[in-house]
Amino acid sequence: MNSSEFRRRGKEMVDFVADYLEGIEGRQVYPDVEPGYLRPLIPTTAPEEPDTFEDILNDVEKIIMPGVTHWHNPYFFAYFPTANSYPALLADILCGAIGCIGFSWAASPACTELETVMMDWLGKMLKLPEAFLAGQVGEGGGVIQGSASEATLVALLAARTKVVRRLQAASPGLTQGAIMEKLVAYSSDQAHSSVERAGLIGGVKIKAIPSDGKFAMRASALQEALERDKAEGLIPFFVVATLGTTSCCSFDNLLEVGPICTKEDVWLHIDAAYAGSSFICPEFRHLLNGVEFADSFNFNPHKWLLVNFDCSAMWVKKRTDLIGAFKLDPLYLKHGHQDSGTPGSLLSAMFWFCFHQSCISAGSQEEGLITDYRHWQLPLGRRFRSLKMWFVFRMYGVKGLQAYIRKHVRLAHEFEHLVHQDPRFEICAEVTLGLVCFRLKGSNKLNEDLLERINSAKKIHLVPCHLRDKFVLRLAICARTVESAHVRQAWKHIQQLATDVLRAEKD
Ligand code: PLP
Repeated sequence: MNSSEFRRRGKEMVDFVADYLEGIEGRQVYPDVEPGYLRPLIPTTAPEEPDTFEDILNDVEKIIMPGVTHWHNPYFFAYFPTANSYPALLADILCGAIGCIGFSWAASPACTELETVMMDWLGKMLKLPEAFLAGQVGEGGGVIQGSASEATLVALLAARTKVVRRLQAASPGLTQGAIMEKLVAYSSDQAHSSVERAGLIGGVKIKAIPSDGKFAMRASALQEALERDKAEGLIPFFVVATLGTTSCCSFDNLLEVGPICTKEDVWLHIDAAYAGSSFICPEFRHLLNGVEFADSFNFNPHKWLLVNFDCSAMWVKKRTDLIGAFKLDPLYLKHGHQDSGTPGSLLSAMFWFCFHQSCISAGSQEEGLITDYRHWQLPLGRRFRSLKMWFVFRMYGVKGLQAYIRKHVRLAHEFEHLVHQDPRFEICAEVTLGLVCFRLKGSNKLNEDLLERINSAKKIHLVPCHLRDKFVLRLAICARTVESAHVRQAWKHIQQLATDVLRAEKD
């Protein structure tokens, strides 16, 4: 494909995408296919001779679309939202075109510097404490990770390194292995499974703290676990507090948990994957009170802030905690931040090696906008993801983004109100943002049957959760284009299916 064909096909593709998104309501939200549907529809090997663009686009409609779950259909109410906006789509085209791999400042200065500035913009939108911002010379700063799971893992690994070094400095004879087998991390029993997974990958124990009646982690339960574990010779080093749990969007009590972490010298990481976006609205910012106690904080603009996947925003108060844990500098990745010479040459590399080392000892590198983000993350490579933030923040403005969040919360309350009006149903957790947990009063079996009917009918799509021993239906306001009429229609449909289920139960 040459550039003139790209111009033509690019315009066709933009039309295809706009048609897809404009017409998405007409597509069944959940596909009819069975596992393995796709393999028989495409050749077993790649074509020897090139196919045409038309053939491929036709096959998208014939082969791909029948197997797509349409997350941006306004009748999609499952999981949590995943962001989708036109400015982000356009920025992603540019990101693909520039196609840089911004592992270091020198690898593409704009990629690094825009990310640092966007993370400061976003941090200011959330009114994060100054300590988390990079500014010009700050010790903190933000980085875009691929996912909240990655952010939790990065935080856990950094905390692990920090505690191991601290204990080894105090007792030089202690081996890393001896320390690691005693390390223990904590999260509430409502935390996302990615927290437990971070423990598995990081080779440390994770303990679930029983949440209270509102599904929140409280001080007393955490303190009790810490005391018990310390008495047994274990070493508490890491706590994950969740703001907006996956099951029911509950909030751990940061103002209680935070001071305990400070007192015990334990790293506090906040996972606000979904709820974090709402903190740009003054009326929801109080949910973040206590963030000042945290060492790291993360949420996903790719969930609810109109920045398409992937864009998970993570801040740390001390960037040296990450860099100290993950920094390795092979010669081929070294550079000088003011390098205007021949970066590939050995001479230049050796010069910059010395420059780099002297900067480290002077404590003057990795400050402000001059950052090598490869030290802040697990992979080496990274895309120019901040372009999506820049386009979205500028084209919506903070007011536009706030209006978007508010609309979703309003729709969730509208649905909650409808549920309250039908005495056959109950609301199962406080509705704070865009998620409503509800169920038919009655057995789990009854609710499992209802969900089965809902998802078999494929007019709307929901997923369930367990709250304690109850099987609960979750309705999350997801699509950018969802309106009151969709929510009302969904509720009517659920009510009809509930009538069928209750009738079947009687027969
Ligand atoms: N944490 C919470 C509270 C979540 O709700 C989710 C996903 O919904 C995650 C973590 C995982 O997010 P990611 O897919 O970005 O790893």
